[in-house]
Amino acid sequence: MKIANKKVTAERLVKDALEKAKHFADYNIFTFLDEEGAIKRAREIDEKIARGEDVGRLAGVPYALKDNFLSENGETTASAHILEGFKSPVTATAVEKLEAEGAIMIGRTNLDAFAHGSSTENSYYGPTLNAFDKGRVAGGSSGGSAVAVALDIVEFATGTDTGGSIRQPASFNGIYGFKPTYGTVSRYGVVAMASSLDCIGFFTKTPEDMNLLMEVASGQDPKDMTTLPDFYNADATKKNSATRIGVIKDFDNEAVDANIREALKAKCKILKEKGFEIVELDMPTLKYALAAYYIIQPAEVASNLSRHDGVRYGFRSDDSSNLENLYENTRNEGFMSENKRRIMIGNFVLSSGFYDAYFLKAAKARTLIVKEYEEAFKKCDYILTPVSPNLAFKLGEKVNDPVAMYLEDLMSVSLNLAGVPGLAIPAGMSGEGLPVGLQIVGPRRSDRQLIEFAKELA
Ligand code: GLN
Repeated sequence: MKIANKKVTAERLVKDALEKAKHFADYNIFTFLDEEGAIKRAREIDEKIARGEDVGRLAGVPYALKDNFLSENGETTASAHILEGFKSPVTATAVEKLEAEGAIMIGRTNLDAFAHGSSTENSYYGPTLNAFDKGRVAGGSSGGSAVAVALDIVEFATGTDTGGSIRQPASFNGIYGFKPTYGTVSRYGVVAMASSLDCIGFFTKTPEDMNLLMEVASGQDPKDMTTLPDFYNADATKKNSATRIGVIKDFDNEAVDANIREALKAKCKILKEKGFEIVELDMPTLKYALAAYYIIQPAEVASNLSRHDGVRYGFRSDDSSNLENLYENTRNEGFMSENKRRIMIGNFVLSSGFYDAYFLKAAKARTLIVKEYEEAFKKCDYILTPVSPNLAFKLGEKVNDPVAMYLEDLMSVSLNLAGVPGLAIPAGMSGEGLPVGLQIVGPRRSDRQLIEFAKELA
């Protein structure tokens, strides 16, 4: 991470980042560029440096903010029409922490509206293009953030991961993407998708940068009762001591792209040569993770999105002649079809006739998945797996087939259900010139050691 020093000013770094953002405008990465604000903040940092004042660990570092983080700079739209025009009166804790260390937000990035999706094609503002092939998707939902880092516009970007939204776009664009243990980084001020699954994390080019960002962002927050005591910084001297790496037997099958399977084998070979033991794992419950996720997650979505009624936030339909019209037309015109699908499914699985058959069963499956990970981590220290079954796919290929899109999340959602951390790592390129990614999974609160371990595979 470049820290502003006498050789390069914060103003120069920020102006370069803004220029690059404009140069790559056709990728549709940003929903908002804060030119004036970012340059102003950079100058303030340069002045502090000139006066010999203390500047933070991220002083002058330009970054991109996924547009579902609240901050007073620009509108927070979550790439959804229904939030258009919404200016937040509060700032997310994660943003406050980054900015207290001198990081400078240059813009807000595109996502699938309300983070519902795996390609960034569900955005009201249109899709973001893949950094390596403009005919392919960026991945999602944090597609804009991933491409902003992959194209070197910014040093890092923020993301949210409810079922893979950091790890999958990171792997589609050849960079690192980290979903921490549930509760490590405060969710306060981040547009809620599914509150029991949502995690805040980052995109970077190196494990070292990821570690620095986690040091800055982790910690208990009185504004988010689900945050954990700050184990990340408390672990500063606790070194990675992994010796056994697990691989999941079921994930080595024809349905997984050959490039990904080969990359996994190549990494296992490197690990073996370094003296690690490779352990084969049977995790039969993981096949129920996707089904459980697509019940629990929409149930929580339906509840979280009920607040968008046309009264309090952003957009309101022109046809609001009475209260019922106001609600109905605002929600109908303001939500994308994927948002509506999830609200419908969520309300269905929670309804009195179906709660036991769907929601309760999914909640039980979730407990079994938690236990299966606990058992697995008795046999190995970390697990190395694919992030998704395929490489970046073509624009338009899956967007009209929700089930095909949901299958993208086959290998990523179980981590959110279990609350365990996962780091997507770059693992080479396919013959077609597309990035191949893998993920390292660890037990809860192993975040720091997991990032440290990633250096073995860099
Ligand atoms: N692709 C998953 C979904 O659409 C995950 C999204 C996310 O992590 N925000 O639910």
